[in-house]
Amino acid sequence: MELSTKQTQEMLAYVAEHMISIKDILTKADQAIGDGDHGIGMARGFEAVQEKLASQEFETLDALFQAVGMALISNIGGASGAIFGTLFRAGGKALAGQQSLTAHSLSQFLRAGFDGVTQRGKASVGDKTMVDALEPACLESERPHDDLITALTATAEAAEAGMENTKKLVATLGRAKTLGERALGHADPGAVSMAHILRSMADYASAQSTQT
Ligand code: ADP
Ligand code: MG
Repeated sequence: MELSTKQTQEMLAYVAEHMISIKDILTKADQAIGDGDHGIGMARGFEAVQEKLASQEFETLDALFQAVGMALISNIGGASGAIFGTLFRAGGKALAGQQSLTAHSLSQFLRAGFDGVTQRGKASVGDKTMVDALEPACLESERPHDDLITALTATAEAAEAGMENTKKLVATLGRAKTLGERALGHADPGAVSMAHILRSMADYASAQSTQT
């Protein structure tokens, strides 16, 4: 199974709707170890994504993903606008000219997105950021997968495991740094977002495949 550019646009609109719906979960996560603005920021960013996707059609996957990235960068203040915006922009660039999303394009997206995010934010695995969910997802996507649905499902699971693992970590970057050991037991908010982005992509793709 693969998704056309139009279906991928629908998938990203579904992701946007989902991310807006978990605003309170993200707020609580950031209240526990940060300044509490992550839910507001992500909701504002994905509302802009929704508007963009509702008003424009895209010829290719790179144009689509980069438009999502730009909407996030220009509408979220704080660290996560640049970080999640870069994920979609840098990841999208790797899909230049492609018109259908396959398991292979997913791995290209995640690898280039990971490279962009780590170049920009300088976080490594273990720093208790969204990179702790993104990196295992990226590695999982590079293993052989039968098709896009199995790839997305496995990738979402890897991100969720990485997000769970951030509960055991002390932050070394960003606002949670000052909390030290008090951050233990709490997941990193950006890692929670990263896991939800991939899970909602997987849910959309699975629903498409069962439609008659
Ligand atoms: P802010 O930290 O400015 O309040 P948010 O609360 O919206 O921004 O986002 C915080 C999330 O951003 C963190 O949970 C973390 O996952 C992510 N983040 C922060 N700095 C970095 C970085 N340098 N690299 C990757 N992700 C980061
Ligand atoms: Mg914050």
